Amino acid sequence: MAPSRQDCEELDAKDPIGSARERFVLPEGVVYLDGNSLGPLPVALADRLAHVLGQEWGARLVAGWDESGWMEAPRRVGDKIARLIGARPGEVVACDSTTVALTKLLLAALHARPGRRLLLTTTGNFPSDLYAGEGAARLSGRAELRVVEPSALEAELAGGDVAALFLTHVDYRTGEMFDMAGLTAAAHAGGALAVWDLCHSAGAVPLDCGGDGVDLALGCGYKYLNGGPGAPAFLYVRQEHQGVLPNPLPGWLGHADPFAFDGRFAQAADIGGYLTSTPPILGLVALEAGLDTFEGITMADVRAKSVALGELFLAVVGEEAGELVEVASPMDPARRGSQVSLRHRDTRAIVEELIGQGVVGDFRPPDVCRFGFAPLYLTHAEVYDAARLVARVVVAASR
Ligand SMILES: *Cc1c(COP(=O)(O)O)cnc(C)c1O
Repeated sequence: MAPSRQDCEELDAKDPIGSARERFVLPEGVVYLDGNSLGPLPVALADRLAHVLGQEWGARLVAGWDESGWMEAPRRVGDKIARLIGARPGEVVACDSTTVALTKLLLAALHARPGRRLLLTTTGNFPSDLYAGEGAARLSGRAELRVVEPSALEAELAGGDVAALFLTHVDYRTGEMFDMAGLTAAAHAGGALAVWDLCHSAGAVPLDCGGDGVDLALGCGYKYLNGGPGAPAFLYVRQEHQGVLPNPLPGWLGHADPFAFDGRFAQAADIGGYLTSTPPILGLVALEAGLDTFEGITMADVRAKSVALGELFLAVVGEEAGELVEVASPMDPARRGSQVSLRHRDTRAIVEELIGQGVVGDFRPPDVCRFGFAPLYLTHAEVYDAARLVARVVVAASR
């Protein structure tokens, strides 16, 4: 049986991370279930931006690079991301965009496996990742993108020609989660590097890049990390690869000593070696404010609440409209990220109707509607209300 609304209110009253909601600007009358697409605005950002504009850029001008910690920002923000993805300090930098970061890491991986020809991924991967895979293969002048069903990955890896396996950990459409440890081990057993896209995992599910042996990873700053529209992405390079794998898009910020203005690229031996360009300070300020919404919160707490919210949503929708929609996400929460997707012949209209009534999810073609559960700012009671509304709208759309 689904919990009652009163059960939900009791859960909210003793929610160990319930107070984090106050860290966000959330419009009145909206239940926001699209934080998997764009996280909400952190309350702290307005003052921080005002400070950067007034006291830093405005007052110090170019001296800000030294005096205001701007040069260090990609590493400092990277370290805050490291904590959320199970990486060590000094293994992550915030820079580039997701697609650019992926292209860089795939080219670096190809360089690490000179005798191998294939970049391997799955058919369901996000289109931009598929394009980046194709682009990196072409840019390398010798590689090829191989796209297969998940069930065929192990056989491909055993073939001995895969340079890198690259996967998106949580499927953007269904929320299905790959086994990061198992597939990384399979890649290594086949002699390939493992590259993970964490766009729908970072800040949503606990990750252990270190323990799972992940070689390279990347992700986006504007989804569960709440870094704002178009926020910088991040890239992770395992310590042992740093300085060994080349930065395939070298720029002066990745030089060991940018201000020597050396005519020849000498890559920094640490994670900074993977930077290309001048850090986008305003974007990094916003991303850092987004990351600071996780202050004092463990990913274990985030995950526990995420699973509870997903289960609650499924129970309520299942009880009231179970016969009328198909659940496109795994029912087993252990195999599901922080979203639930539904299929119906009329999902586009369902999503529009829900948005009109204050429940914001989204539609992904051909027939999926997605509801993301960002545990930092959602309450059990509002997810309960949203699920009841979803059920009612589904019932009406099924007549
Ligand atoms: C959101 C997302 C992207 C976005 O790429 P950008 O370069 O930031 O536009 C790429 N890949 C995946 C898997 C995503 O979820």
